[in-house]
This record gives sequence, structure tokens and C-alpha cells, in this order.
Amino acid sequence: MSFIPPDALSTIQLVSGLVASAKNAVDLAKLSSNRDLQAAVSELLIGVMDVKVHVIELDEEVRDLKAQLARREEIEGPDAKFGYFHFKSKPDEPLCPKCYQSVPSKIANMGPRQQLGNWVVRACPVCGFSHRERMGSLSDSQSPTW
Ligand SMILES: [Zn+2]
Repeated sequence: MSFIPPDALSTIQLVSGLVASAKNAVDLAKLSSNRDLQAAVSELLIGVMDVKVHVIELDEEVRDLKAQLARREEIEGPDAKFGYFHFKSKPDEPLCPKCYQSVPSKIANMGPRQQLGNWVVRACPVCGFSHRERMGSLSDSQSPTW
């Protein structure tokens, strides 16, 4: 018989072990003539299986949150000038602040600069958020960093 330290087992493995134990208890209870015992053990098995489903859902949620957290560590912002976010590795590609700060957070690059009347603007192709970066024309040489 091998011994595995409890902290080395995942929660799903622990719950799977409980399901197996509960199934074993159901099989043993079938040998008994006590109907109350059989019903109680069957109810226990159903309850443990419900817990297993819930644990699997929570495990998926934890994985998603860890992935989001890792992604957030790659992103900086908002910048003081325009309020954009950007990947640390792509400082010249602004992300839509509205999409990024929505729940759930989405990653969408702001569109290219466009001339809109007297303004140079960028718009998000996903949510339509637009930001006036400056007055003037696209051809002005004093364009900002991005
Ligand atoms: Zn957006």
C-alpha cells in the first residue's frame, strides 16, 4: 500500500476517492436487509457525486482566473496620456480600456488613428469606444508615442 501525502493530491482526486468509497459503501449496503441503511448510503453517494461536479466547476474557474491573472501581469496601464492599456512587450499597440476593464475582461486592440473632423481619434473595433487623441491632422509630425 502506497502512501500519498494529502497535499500532493488534487481536490478532484480527493473527491474521486470519496465517490469510490461511497460506491463501495452502496455495494456493501446492498448485502444488508436494512432498507434505511441502503437508502442513506445511496443518498450519500448522490451527495458526494454532486460535490464532485461542483469541485470540477470550481477547478475550471480557478484555472480561468489564474490565466487571467497571468495575462494581467503582462499588461500595463492605464497610461496617463490616453488611458490606454498595452502589453509590456507591445508598447506601441494600445488596448481598448473599456474592453479590458469590462467583466469578463477582453483584450481588443484599438484601431488605427483616423481623422475625424478636426480630431485624430482611435476607435475600438469590438465595442466602438473611441478616444480623441488630439486636435489636428493625421499628417502632423508631433504625433504622440503611439
Ligand atoms: Zn473596446
